[in-house]
Amino acid sequence: MTSVSPHKKAKALKPTSRRPAKELCSECGLCDTYYIHYVKEACAFLNQQIGELEEQAHRRSRDLDRPDELYFGVHQDMMAARKQQPIAGAQWTGIVSSIAIEMLNRGLVEGVVCVQNTKEDRFQPMPIIARTPEEILAAKVNKPTLSPNLSVLEQIEKSGLKRLLVIGVGCQIQALRAVEKQLGLEKLYVLGTPCVDNVTRAGLQKFLETTSRSPDTVVHYEFMQDFRVHFKHEDGSTETVPFFGLKTNKLKDVFAPSCMSCFDYVNSLADLVVGYMGAPFGWQWIVVRNDTGKEMLDLVKDQLDTQPVMSQGNRKEAVQQSIPAYDKAVTLPMWAAKLMGVVIEKIGPKGLEYARFSIDSHFTRNYLYVKRNHPQKLEQHVPEYAKRIVGQYKLPE
Ligand code: FAD
Ligand code: SF4
Repeated sequence: MTSVSPHKKAKALKPTSRRPAKELCSECGLCDTYYIHYVKEACAFLNQQIGELEEQAHRRSRDLDRPDELYFGVHQDMMAARKQQPIAGAQWTGIVSSIAIEMLNRGLVEGVVCVQNTKEDRFQPMPIIARTPEEILAAKVNKPTLSPNLSVLEQIEKSGLKRLLVIGVGCQIQALRAVEKQLGLEKLYVLGTPCVDNVTRAGLQKFLETTSRSPDTVVHYEFMQDFRVHFKHEDGSTETVPFFGLKTNKLKDVFAPSCMSCFDYVNSLADLVVGYMGAPFGWQWIVVRNDTGKEMLDLVKDQLDTQPVMSQGNRKEAVQQSIPAYDKAVTLPMWAAKLMGVVIEKIGPKGLEYARFSIDSHFTRNYLYVKRNHPQKLEQHVPEYAKRIVGQYKLPE
């Protein structure tokens, strides 16, 4: 008699059913599959276990006494990089898509979990398992919305895939690592991006409508190191809006509750992380967490310009001052916001210090959010590293 694996007994939830994590659900996709069987242990919002999963993925958890590990997680290398020939239409220079394509072309993997968009809506995520470079390229650029990337996991077993690359953000990767051993793979590679302030599709619409001059033509946006949001429009034009001019009173409820309670900004459990925030403007930021990550990066090294990471300025005061401003949802008049942006850009944090600025601002905000909205979760849900980071600041009651 053949044995039936335990997850076969669980049944995926219907798309309309309430998720086990309730309002904190980030729609990571796990509950759309029979792996929902493991949700109580696997869900990033029901069972925070980053330290244990770091040991599983990298053979050790981060060293809290090493300042760079406290902030950026377990790593063996960090650098700034950009493609010598950027991929047109990628979020930055297309390092993520290039690594995925190279892995497929060289036969390291048979499929790549990534997220395209639907035909009707450029920002509606559509996760797929890509089997060709063209399918990977069609997934380039951020879908800045909650995306059920793990919803394709059932297809792995059905299609007999044994070697897989998954591209994803922190909450997706936490759940993935927790069920990794159940997937029947010979080798799993994980390519992560940092992630923060994500929104539902409806929330995205509200953000675009309150912030951009032409919400319907935005094809791409990013909160950049120059303290401005950069929108790129269909006609190729760029629009910039200073962070300090954002209509925080209208935007307060726009970010998903999952993202307001997330402390895994830097995607601690991926083998390799590709973002931008620890790098100079125009460059991408690479964090190599383990040997698998190094193997992945080496595949594209000859396509990249690289430089060492740098750090400049002091974030602490700017973070401390932004805490009550965010809390009270203050919006500066546009002229003051622009001025503040220029001053901060000239004297403010750069490189890794900018990344720390962004981590500190989001962790303090999120800590207050969890404390006020889910006080019973605070102790277990906030990882020790985040408690230490938040502990550097004076928080309002
Ligand atoms: P590309 O080659 O364009 O590939 C992008 C890849 O992202 C694609 O493979 C696609 O499958 C995947 N993807 C797109 N949308 C999603 C999604 N919603 N969920 C999961 N995977 C997705 N970096 C920072 O340094 N700081 C940040 O604050 C930050 N916030 C981010 C927020 C979101 C929602 C996302 C998705 C990414 C964020 N990043 C952040 C990462 C950064 O914006 C770039 O995605 C990264 O540098 C890769 O750029 P690229 O040109 O190499 O990617
Ligand atoms: Fe399920 Fe993922 Fe939502 Fe948690 S975040 S309830 S695992 S879909």
